[in-house]
Amino acid sequence: EYYHGQASEVIVLTPNGAVSFGEHHPVVTIAGPCAVENEEMIVRTAQRVKAAGAKFLRGGAYKPRTSPYAFQGHGESALEMLWQARQATGLGIVTEVMDTSDIERVAEVADIVQIGARNMQNFTLLKKVGTQSKPVLLKRGLAATIDDWLMAAEYILASGNPNVILCERGIRTFDRQYTRNTLDLSAIPVLRSLTHLPIAIDPSHGTGISAFVPTMSKAAIVAGTDALVIEVHPTPAQALSDGPQSLTLEQFDYLSREMEIISQAI
Ligand code: PEP
Ligand code: MN
Repeated sequence: EYYHGQASEVIVLTPNGAVSFGEHHPVVTIAGPCAVENEEMIVRTAQRVKAAGAKFLRGGAYKPRTSPYAFQGHGESALEMLWQARQATGLGIVTEVMDTSDIERVAEVADIVQIGARNMQNFTLLKKVGTQSKPVLLKRGLAATIDDWLMAAEYILASGNPNVILCERGIRTFDRQYTRNTLDLSAIPVLRSLTHLPIAIDPSHGTGISAFVPTMSKAAIVAGTDALVIEVHPTPAQALSDGPQSLTLEQFDYLSREMEIISQAI
């Protein structure tokens, strides 16, 4: 039923060189703010996460917000700011596409196109990102089973794009008092047993609380993740979205050093 015959890695070309995602490669860190807020903050964040060892800058231009009255992202002008950050640092860019009509424009700037949790089963969008050439980061749906998720990936693969990275970002929890979602770290060994596709973990949306992000990042490395997606903001208290789960630049520096030590040890 599943698509076979693909290599067990995804290689992404960035201005700083090729970055490989997969079991036999170093853990790749993707970091940045939930939303691109202005050019100064995105370029500064890019410089700092690069210095800490991140290979990709992630920032939202089109934001899928629960409330229509919440900040929706700066759209096209944010794509331009991401391009400036890419020029300034050579980092690869990861950013979300929500609408089929934006795919071409997003793919001009993005080195990896993100499909968000809420669109995991938007089959029209999946088929369309499957017909373009940029690798795709496919986030797990809010209440998606592993098979739902793998079949969503299958839509992209079957449309001709073999470069899909699966990103666990927490599933609906019954205990919203302490975490935003339940981060399913068991997805790592489960997926490893089912698919050749690389695996990423997003501990920021997975927990919703910045204080818990370092612990779960390190746990994900030990559990064998191929990549981490971590929200970082210069001033989380002022963030336009997801401030409570965003690390400061200093906290990300510190965590990156810890992650390096753990990666060396396993
Ligand atoms: C995001 O990455 O900022 C985001 C909205 O994530 P998710 O789709 O996992 O909720
Ligand atoms: Mn976010």
